[in-house]
Amino acid sequence: MKTERSDLFFEKATRLIPGGVNSPVRAFKAVGGKPLFIASASGSKLRDVDGNEFIDYVGSWGPMILGHAHPRVVEAVRNAALSGTSFGAPTELEVSTAELITRLMPSVEMVRMVNSGTEATMSAVRLARAFTGREMIVKFEGCYHGHGDSFLIKAGSGAMTLSVPDSPGVPSTVAAGTLNATFNDLGSVEALVDQNKGQIAALIVEPVVGNMGCVPPARNFLHGLRDLCTKAGIVLIFDEVMTGFRVARGGAQALYGVRPDLTTLGKIIGGGLPVGAYGGRAEIMKLVAPSGPMYQAGTLSGNPLAMSAGFETLSILMGEGDFYDRLERKSSRLAAGIDKNIQDLNIPASQNRVGSMSTLFFTPRSVTDYPSALLADTRRFGTYFRAMLERGIYLAPSQFEAGFVSIAHTDEDIDRTIHASREALKIAFS
Ligand SMILES: *Cc1c(COP(=O)(O)O)cnc(C)c1O
Repeated sequence: MKTERSDLFFEKATRLIPGGVNSPVRAFKAVGGKPLFIASASGSKLRDVDGNEFIDYVGSWGPMILGHAHPRVVEAVRNAALSGTSFGAPTELEVSTAELITRLMPSVEMVRMVNSGTEATMSAVRLARAFTGREMIVKFEGCYHGHGDSFLIKAGSGAMTLSVPDSPGVPSTVAAGTLNATFNDLGSVEALVDQNKGQIAALIVEPVVGNMGCVPPARNFLHGLRDLCTKAGIVLIFDEVMTGFRVARGGAQALYGVRPDLTTLGKIIGGGLPVGAYGGRAEIMKLVAPSGPMYQAGTLSGNPLAMSAGFETLSILMGEGDFYDRLERKSSRLAAGIDKNIQDLNIPASQNRVGSMSTLFFTPRSVTDYPSALLADTRRFGTYFRAMLERGIYLAPSQFEAGFVSIAHTDEDIDRTIHASREALKIAFS
């Protein structure tokens, strides 16, 4: 595969941008090699600056559920741009988008637009603190909620040890306010709630984890969290930045039938433009300025270009009655093909999937939480990743990420992927 031009850009980029990338996951550090520079994309395909073409399963890390450059989304953004790109004053489109979101996700009675998932989770936690008058939060080891200070905390050797920051620059006082529990382990949450009675403002969770690879919730885990939070007066926040409008039209909360107090959104609601949002019970949302005292603002929040892409994307998802059935058929075709490869070749791997989100973990035992995810063989994943790339398949450059199928993936794309995966597995496990 020719990568001259990508290599040249990367060399220049590393002198100008830290690590050569504007978000660390884009670097190919975890898999060895250098990132490709993308020139264009349409439908299920990405094209790099050297003219290589790939079937894309990153989908900009989640937003591109319609595929790249969907004609209706492009047209909506073009029309919005012609009418002015930002006013710093309200527009009709913000109201229509808010209305669409509240219809698709009934637990979201009111919603505030921001510019990224990170902003959404930071704001939701501030709001939960304002609402409860408490300061601590509970999160789960291996869940990612953006790069806000309170979220960059690991539990160290277990949920009961003192919280220490994952990143220099995070104040230890902030780290101390974040408690880590184990995903799919209600007991670990109960223990933290007991030990910190009356002090926990919010519990935030990815209802289907995407950020340690795809890890589905165990039966009754989310319902259990709901009960615990209700009893202890804790605000339950579902971080649906990735799962919202992805795992079902109404997100993971619709799929599993659990109603959170607050929901954070991003990715798909921006249709590929920078958008985030947080929303939920009106009683809580009314505390947000200017209707209430909890301050949160944004110069470009509700930006017309971003809203037009998001509104058009959501309208398509809402308008096509069989959209999620079609997406499921494509996703299960891919998963079945890969499962067959694993069986036929006797590969020690296990696949997790919820709808169009999935991860193939290179560990024979099933992955249900962060410790079990960490058992995956990342060196073999690196070999697999590079073999897939050579065969025109663009996967996320890390074992601990979810892959995404879009509605633009054709059966032919999927069959080519299954075939490539068979060869790549042989190489990785030879
Ligand atoms: C991507 C993601 C975020 C962060 O969103 P950004 O737009 O990258 O700031 C937060 N939570 C989850 C679950 C995500 O997947």
